[in-house]
Amino acid sequence: MRKRKTFTGCNAGHTFFHVNPFGKASICKVGREPNIDLITEGVEGLRGLGAIADSLLLRQGGCTGCELQGTCGTCMPLVQLYRKAKAPLATYCQHREKETPT
Ligand code: SF4
Repeated sequence: MRKRKTFTGCNAGHTFFHVNPFGKASICKVGREPNIDLITEGVEGLRGLGAIADSLLLRQGGCTGCELQGTCGTCMPLVQLYRKAKAPLATYCQHREKETPT
C-alpha cells in the first residue's frame, strides 16, 4: 500500500516475458491477456509479444484522456486487474474517493 513512483514505461514483452505452466506466453505476470500459445505457435510466436505489450500499456478504458496519467504510478495492465477486482480507487488511482477525516 506504499505510494508508487510515476509509471514511465516498461520493457515487458520486449526484453522479458512470462510463461504459465500451460505454455501461454504473456508480456508479464500481470498482463496475461492476450497471450501466445507456445504449444501451437512455437517459439516464433514470441515475436508477437512486442505488439501485444505496446497495446496493453496504452491508457484505455476509464484512463483514456485522464489528465493525471503523467503522474500515475499504476501501469495499465495492473489498473485492469484492480478494476476487474472492483478495488477501491484509492488503491490504484489518483482519482480516489474523498477520504473521511479521522
Ligand atoms: S490516475 Fe487513475 S484514471 Fe488516471 S491514468 Fe492513473 S489509474 Fe487511470
